[in-house]
Amino acid sequence: MRMITFLLVGLIVHVVFFLSIFDIYFTSPLVHGMTPHATPQAPPSSRLVLVVADGLRADSFFTLLPNGSSRAPYLRSVIEEKGTWGVSHTRVPTESRPGHVALIAGFYEDVSAVAKGWKENPVEFDSVFNETRHTWCWGSPDILPMFAKGASGDHVYTHTYPAEEEDFASTDASRLDTWVFTQVKSFFQSAKSNASLRANLLQDENVFFLHLLGIDTNGHAHRPMSQEYLDNIGLVDTGVAELVSMVEDFFGHDGRTAYVFTSDHGMTNWGSHGAGHPSETLTPLVAWGAGVHNARRATGPQPYSDGFLQDWKLEHLQRVDVNQGILPLLYLNNSEHFKAESMYTNAIQVLEQYKLPVFVSPPSCQMALCRTLIARALEGLAYYHTYDRFFLGCSVVLGFVGWTSYVVLVILKTHANLNRNPSIPSHALVRLSLSLTVVITVFLLIQRSPVTYYVYCLLPVPLWYSVLKESGILTDLFRSAPSLPLWKCFGYFVLVSFGIELLVASFFHRAMLTVGLAVLSLWPFLSGLFGKAKFRSLSWCLGCLCLAAFPLMPVVGREPNVHLVTFAGVLSLFTSACYLWSSRPRTTMHLSDRQQFVSQVTTVCAYVPSLTHSSLQQKQGLPLLNQVISWSTLASSMIVPLLSSTRLFQRLLSIFLSLTATYLLLSTGSEALFPPVLAWLMFVWINIEQEAMLAQASHPLNLHGFPQTSCIGICSPIFYQNMHSGLSTIDFSANIDIAKLRQLKLDDIRRSYFFVFFIITAFFGTGNIASINSFDPASVYCFLTVFNPFLMGGLMMWKVVIPFIIVMCTFETIQVATQLSSRSLFLIVLVISDLMALHFFFLVQDYGSWLDIGTSISHYVIVMSMTIFLMLLSVVTHILTSQRLTLWRHKKHFP
Ligand SMILES: [Zn+2]
Ligand SMILES: [Zn+2]
Repeated sequence: MRMITFLLVGLIVHVVFFLSIFDIYFTSPLVHGMTPHATPQAPPSSRLVLVVADGLRADSFFTLLPNGSSRAPYLRSVIEEKGTWGVSHTRVPTESRPGHVALIAGFYEDVSAVAKGWKENPVEFDSVFNETRHTWCWGSPDILPMFAKGASGDHVYTHTYPAEEEDFASTDASRLDTWVFTQVKSFFQSAKSNASLRANLLQDENVFFLHLLGIDTNGHAHRPMSQEYLDNIGLVDTGVAELVSMVEDFFGHDGRTAYVFTSDHGMTNWGSHGAGHPSETLTPLVAWGAGVHNARRATGPQPYSDGFLQDWKLEHLQRVDVNQGILPLLYLNNSEHFKAESMYTNAIQVLEQYKLPVFVSPPSCQMALCRTLIARALEGLAYYHTYDRFFLGCSVVLGFVGWTSYVVLVILKTHANLNRNPSIPSHALVRLSLSLTVVITVFLLIQRSPVTYYVYCLLPVPLWYSVLKESGILTDLFRSAPSLPLWKCFGYFVLVSFGIELLVASFFHRAMLTVGLAVLSLWPFLSGLFGKAKFRSLSWCLGCLCLAAFPLMPVVGREPNVHLVTFAGVLSLFTSACYLWSSRPRTTMHLSDRQQFVSQVTTVCAYVPSLTHSSLQQKQGLPLLNQVISWSTLASSMIVPLLSSTRLFQRLLSIFLSLTATYLLLSTGSEALFPPVLAWLMFVWINIEQEAMLAQASHPLNLHGFPQTSCIGICSPIFYQNMHSGLSTIDFSANIDIAKLRQLKLDDIRRSYFFVFFIITAFFGTGNIASINSFDPASVYCFLTVFNPFLMGGLMMWKVVIPFIIVMCTFETIQVATQLSSRSLFLIVLVISDLMALHFFFLVQDYGSWLDIGTSISHYVIVMSMTIFLMLLSVVTHILTSQRLTLWRHKKHFP
C-alpha cells in the first residue's frame, strides 16, 4: 500500500515538473484586448499586391549571372528604377508558418505553439488581412487557411490547390507557381464580367496575396544551387511582370497600387531551413508602386559591411534593410508629416500592449523620439514576458531537489537500520509549513497568478516537510560516520556525479557513450576483479570496446548494408551455438528445451536470407512467404521465450534469440550487429557481478557497506547455496522471498548506475532522437511496403524497445542472482534519472530553430518518462523471465 502511494506521489510530482516547462519557457508573448490605432492621414495607396516566394534566398535572387544579366530581369529593373530594396532579416525558426505570421501579422514565432505541434497558431491574432476590406489569396493549403481562420468576418478569400497537387510537384515544382499565376489571371478576367466582384475590387483597402511554393519545393528536392531552383526564380519573375501589367490594366493605371515582393525564409546549401544560418535568415525585399520611394542613388558609402552590395553589383543603389517591429521610413515616399504621424501611431500601438495611458505629446516631427520609445517598449515587453521565469524556475527546482532528497532518505531509511529520532519536533514543522503555505498563497493572490502557479509554488512545501521530518536519519548517519568508509563514499559521490554528467553529455554527442564504455571496460582492472576472474574480465573489456564502436557509427538508416545484417545473423547463431556447446556438460537440458532452441535457431537461419532476399528484390515487390515469416516471427517473439525453461541462462538465451530475430528483420545496416554485441556484454556482466559478489562476501573485513547490519542478508543459506552452485542453477520463478533479500550496499549504486548507463546506450547506441523522428521506411520493408504510419511507427517503436528489453532482462537477472530487492534498486535509478532531469530542465530552450527547441524538450521528456517507462518495462521483463507457459501437460513433471 505504501509503495503504491509513493509511486502515485512520484507520478504526480513528475507530471507537474514536466508540465511546468510550458508555463515557464513556452508562454505566448501576445497581449490581447488592444484597440487598433490608425493614422488620421489619407493612405497613399488603395491596394496592395503581396508576393511571397517561399524559400527564396537573398543571394540567389540578387546575384547576377556570369554574363552580367539578372535571373529576375523584371524585378531587377524595378530595383534599378522605381522601387526600394533591401534585405529582410527573418528570425529562427526559419519555417513557413512563423515566417508568414511575421510578414502578415507582425510578431515573431509564438513559442507556446510548441504544445500544439506547430501545425496551427494556438492563439488568436490580428493580421493585416483582418484589417482590410477584402483579401484574396492564392497558394498552398498549408499557409493560407491560417489567416482566413484568424480573420473576423468573411472578407478573406482563399484559393488553394488540393494538398495532393504538392505531390505531383515532385516532377516539376514550378507548376505550383504557374497554377497561382494562372488562377490570378482568370480571377481578374472573370472580374471584368462579374459586376459585384468588380465593385469589390475597385474599393480601397484591398490586399492580393500570392504565395508561391515552387522555389521552396525545388530547393528541398534539388538544393538551391540546382538549375531547377534557379530556373524557378526566372519563372516567378516573368509571372510577377505579367501580374503587374495585368493589375495596372485592370485598374486603368491609376497609380494607387503598392507592390511588395519578398520571401518568408531562405534555404541552406543542402536544401533545408529552420535554423539561423545567414542563408536561411536573409531574404530579399523589393517594394514599389503607390507610396513607395523610387530607387535612390547611393550618395556615400552605405552602412553595411557584409560585402553583399559588391557581390550583387548594387553599390550604386541605396539599400534599406528591415527588421520587424519598427516602420521602415526609408521605404515611404510621402511628406514628413505623414511619416511622423505613422511613426507616432506605430509607437502608440506598441505601447498599447502595456494597457497604460500614454503621456506622449502628439507628433511634432519627433520621429527619433518615437523610435527610441518603440525600442524601449519592445525591450520592456520582452522583460515582462520572461518576468515570472526566474521565480517559477526556482520553485520548480526547489520541488525537484526536495523530491530527490526524500527518495534518498527513503533508501537510507529502509536499508541503513539506523535509530530514528526526529531532530526537529513535528508540531513545529507542521506550524512552519502551514505558515509558509499561507504566505505563498497570499503572495500569489496579490499577484493575481494563474492556478498552475499555486501548484508549482506550493508543491515544494509538503515535499520539504517530509524531508525535514525524516532528517533524523541524516543526523544518525553522521553520528555513525566513524564506522563508514568515508573516503569511499566520497569517491562514489564524485564518480557518480561524473557519470551523470557523462550521460547528460551523451544526449548531445553520442560519442560520449564511447568514452563512457571505454572507462567501463577498465572496471575489472581497477576494482581488482581481474586477479580473480581473468577470462571474464577480459571478455568484459572486449565487450565494452566492441559496443563502444556503435555510437561512433552513423545513425540508423544512413548507410544500408544488407551483408552486415546477414553477418549479424551468423554471429548470433555462432555465439548461441558456442553457448549451447559450452553449457552442455554442466547443465542437463531437457528435451523440450532443446527442441525449442533448435526451432528458434532455424527461424533465425531462415530469416536472414529472407531479409536479404526481400531487400534485394524490393523492385519486384515483397514476396508473400517472407512477409508471412516476418509477421509470425514478430508474433512469436514474445511467446516463444515463455515456453522455455525458467532456468536463468536457458531463458535468457531464448529471449535473446527471439528478440534478435525480430530486430534483424527490422534492420538495414550496421545496427543489426548491436543486439548480439549488447547481449554478449550483458552476459559477461551477469557473470562478473556474480564474481564481484563472491569477492565481496569472502572478504573478511567487508568494506563495502554498513558493516554489521548488511551481513544479515548475505548470510542466508540460500544465498550461499546460489553462489556455490553457480549461476546456471538459478531459476527465475523461484527466489521471490522478500525475507531473504539482503541489505543495500554502496556497490549497488554502481550496479544501478551501470543499468542507467546501459539503458541510455541501448537508446542512443544506434541512433539519436532525430533518427527516430524521421525514420527510414526501408527498415520495415520485410513487414510491409505499403505506407501505413500507424503500423510502421509501431514496428519502429518495437525496434527501439528491443535493446531496452535485453538490458532490462539482464538487470532482472542480476537482481535475482545477487539477492537484491528490486524496489531499492529502482529507487536508486529514480534518483539518478531525476538528477539528469534537473540538468535538462536548465537546458530547455525557447529560442532557436524548431529542431533546437524540439530537441531540448524531447531530452527533458525522455528523462522524465524514463522512470515511468522503466517501471512498466520491469513488469514486462519480470513476466518474460519468470512465467512459463506449458503447452504439453505431460511434460509438467520436469522442473
Ligand atoms: Zn516557407
Ligand atoms: Zn520549405
